[in-house]
Amino acid sequence: MQIRLLNTDQFYVPSRCATCGERFTPEAVLALAYSQAGVALGTICDDCLHAGRATLAQRAHGYAARLRQHVDTLERVAEEVFDVLPLETAPGDDRACVGNGT
Ligand SMILES: [Zn+2]
Repeated sequence: MQIRLLNTDQFYVPSRCATCGERFTPEAVLALAYSQAGVALGTICDDCLHAGRATLAQRAHGYAARLRQHVDTLERVAEEVFDVLPLETAPGDDRACVGNGT
């Protein structure tokens, strides 16, 4: 993995780190991760930037495992029956009185 630092002098909205999956807000200096083949992975968080090679690899493996689980779930859901349930009404304030002993 190659990390390029880019001084943009811009403000950014919260993002998801490309290597650990955690939410973070990028600073004006972006840390951009690329594969050795030059494929852009995205912006990485400060924790990943300063994690060191071994810890960064561990964080990336953990994120990959979570993504793999999500892929498995999506593939299972894609095979399920598609069903839109009728509109429900959220309970009102009456619910707050239930179980409070009064
Ligand atoms: Zn990260």
